[in-house]
Amino acid sequence: MDMAADQAQIDELRRQLSGTLLVSGQAGFQQALKIDNGRVQLQPSLVVQANSTRDIVLTLQFAQRHGLRLTVKGGGHSATGYCLNDDGLVLDMSLMRAISLDRDTRRVFVQMGARWHDVYVYLINSGTGLIPIGGGCPTVGIAGFMQGGGYSFVSRSYGMSIDNLVSLTLVTVDGQVRKLDADCQDPTDRDLFWACRGGGGGNWGVVVDMTLQVHAPATDTMLTGQIRFLPDRAQDVLGFYNQWVETLPDEMAVYGIWGMSPSPSDPTVKIQTFGFTVIYNGNATTGASLLAPLLEKGPLTVSLNAITLPDFELLNGASTLVDNRSAYICSGMMMPGAFTPDAIAVFERYMASVPSTDSFIVWTHAGGKVSQVADDATAFAHRGARFVPEVKSIWTNASDARANVEWAHAFFTDLQPHFVGAYVNYIDPLLADWANRYYLGNYPRLLDVKRACDPDGFMDFQQGVGSAFEPDQSQPLDLAPLNRSFVD
Ligand SMILES: Cc1cc2nc3c(=O)[nH]c(=O)nc-3n(C[C@H](O)[C@H](O)[C@H](O)COP(=O)(O)OP(=O)(O)OC[C@H]3O[C@@H](n4cnc5c(N)ncnc54)[C@H](O)[C@@H]3O)c2cc1C
Repeated sequence: MDMAADQAQIDELRRQLSGTLLVSGQAGFQQALKIDNGRVQLQPSLVVQANSTRDIVLTLQFAQRHGLRLTVKGGGHSATGYCLNDDGLVLDMSLMRAISLDRDTRRVFVQMGARWHDVYVYLINSGTGLIPIGGGCPTVGIAGFMQGGGYSFVSRSYGMSIDNLVSLTLVTVDGQVRKLDADCQDPTDRDLFWACRGGGGGNWGVVVDMTLQVHAPATDTMLTGQIRFLPDRAQDVLGFYNQWVETLPDEMAVYGIWGMSPSPSDPTVKIQTFGFTVIYNGNATTGASLLAPLLEKGPLTVSLNAITLPDFELLNGASTLVDNRSAYICSGMMMPGAFTPDAIAVFERYMASVPSTDSFIVWTHAGGKVSQVADDATAFAHRGARFVPEVKSIWTNASDARANVEWAHAFFTDLQPHFVGAYVNYIDPLLADWANRYYLGNYPRLLDVKRACDPDGFMDFQQGVGSAFEPDQSQPLDLAPLNRSFVD
């Protein structure tokens, strides 16, 4: 974009906005581009910090009129930084964070600049004890999280986050402001509501706000816990876990983790362990008795607490942040029983050769209410998955990038026989056959919705719905897709 030639139009847009327009070099510009993954350093020409639906419409029209690429930034936690772009315009939603609660219907209205932290704090301060079906990490944005599906620690009790999405407001690329819910009369709107629930952020237009169903948990506090074992116990303990989780009620979620943790004999020293993050949506006594068979396996460390879910998220949620270091992230979807000896052996082999002590694997324990919804009822197609592992390969020196990316990529490539797909919220530009793996049988309908709502591909991006991009899997791996937001 020729900034000098367009200065008058930029000034005109700035005058029309109730929010802020920042140009490269201006105070606040770089701050507005901060995202979780420090590896992504894209530089747009303009940032618009919208403060109203009208600002969003004006910005969409401006970008189209001037041939500018536009991406939308919510919480900035996209693993690949798809909320940013080079040379174009970033629509930053961070000024729009209004939240309100209807106590009668137990519904929360929230604007899309908000992060889960804002909702947790709002609900804590409401004194109602109500909980959202929200993210484990408080700084994750609601906008991106929800559009990809959204696993919460209590999803086994209440469904995916999108199963608790009542309605949303979407500005489509034609500038129309659409109120979407499951009862829309207009078939286009119905399709869009379907697509926004699992089809992935950045594809359908700009989401302005959402209304979420929130819940009273089974008890005021939940039993939460951390249980760790030494890696040489993996075959025995994970083999047991694979079967044992099938006996648990929906109220119990037992997530997995494998990485470094403080040694019990000297907490200043970190050692590699694997284990579990436990959340029981019920009283501590029942929760502890459900855990007894796992504890009989002789863990290295155990800590159990009875606290509210929002307090747990606020205390523990930051532990999986990349936090401005560099990261590459891959994911997979595993069906019930998929932690076979062969699969566990792959985990053991790669974790024994992890190139960075900052890297780790975590996995979601899914199922329960998540699986009671049909695969095609929303765009989120992985209802049957039981475990959703992601590897976070994290490093600090730029020269270490190739070793760390190749390690994680080879790790999750070797796990492919144990996977049935991958999770679009951990979007990975090096994943082969990505569209099929993220969307399975829902992809043809998503393509139809995309063609109808964005016929000229204004919001296209490298792994947007409809993109023909396919990463080259030959060796040495081409790392270029990690740094591009658009198909050239
Ligand atoms: C530390 C950490 C913890 C996580 N924990 C969980 C978890 O517990 N469960 C889970 O399911 N996922 C989890 N995730 C994944 C997370 O859901 C995704 O990374 C999600 O895309 C982040 O949304 P965001 O708004 O923060 O990111 P962004 O990078 O801002 O946005 C992600 C995508 O959505 C688009 N987008 C953003 N805002 C809008 C909007 N208003 N309208 C239209 N498109 C928009 C962006 O352009 C981008 O393509 C976690 C990620 C991290 C980094």
